[in-house]
Amino acid sequence: MEVLRSILSRFSSRTRTQSHRLWSSGASDKNKAMVEQLQRYGIIRSSKVVEVMEAIDRGLFVPPGGSPYFDSPMPIGYNATISAPHMHAACLELLEKNLQPGMRALDVGSGTGYLTACFALMVGSEGRAVGVEHIPELVASSIENIKKSAAAPQLTDGSLSIHIADGREGWPELAPYDAIHVGAAAPQIPEALVEQLKPGGRMVIPVGTVFQELKVVDKKLDGSVSIRDETSVRYVPLTSKEAQLHAD
Ligand code: SAH
Repeated sequence: MEVLRSILSRFSSRTRTQSHRLWSSGASDKNKAMVEQLQRYGIIRSSKVVEVMEAIDRGLFVPPGGSPYFDSPMPIGYNATISAPHMHAACLELLEKNLQPGMRALDVGSGTGYLTACFALMVGSEGRAVGVEHIPELVASSIENIKKSAAAPQLTDGSLSIHIADGREGWPELAPYDAIHVGAAAPQIPEALVEQLKPGGRMVIPVGTVFQELKVVDKKLDGSVSIRDETSVRYVPLTSKEAQLHAD
């Protein structure tokens, strides 16, 4: 873990010092440079994840005034943040085998829609990428963000959808899912999400309150479930809309 932390802090400072050089280049160059850094530090290993993170420009998803290519979470309003690029990359890597073309993916707490858009490109038009977010304004802005991105055609063909709902209940209409990602920390793993995981499916979910662990939940083909800790993390809570909006 210490090694990962030092790698990540090196990544952040490199990004800062490179910002002069990147100043004159376009957004897609900056996005590509961010993906290259994540590869250089071993956070991205899969060529498919490289392809998808290059195709979906993170700059379209971070609100004005934020630094989309800087390796840090950024505020998106409503007491929420877009996760840091290395967390998005790490979750795409952990879920890659469950995001093959034609598979079904659920993104709980879809926020800006960035990761849902990445999921959509991974599973393609034959698959389904479903985002669930409980703040209606974030759902509306995420759809606008996705419309500007490489995943836009999938909003039209119906293979990508974002819904206003309490993500602790999942999205049973399209279950079971090959991949479930939860972008907010739950006090415990919600039972409904485990139920909506397909045998052979994988869920990545931060669990905890003050101290949180990113857990990898695998449902085996016989229906039994194994859970392991991947790394310590810091996410906003998976909670009720009221608790989130009055958290100050
Ligand atoms: N993964 C997203 C957002 C991460 S922030 C991104 O990177 O852009 C966590 C998100 O979870 C916030 O948008 C928050 O509004 C949402 N959230 C928290 N509790 C929720 C719940 N019970 N149901 C649905 N969404 C929830």
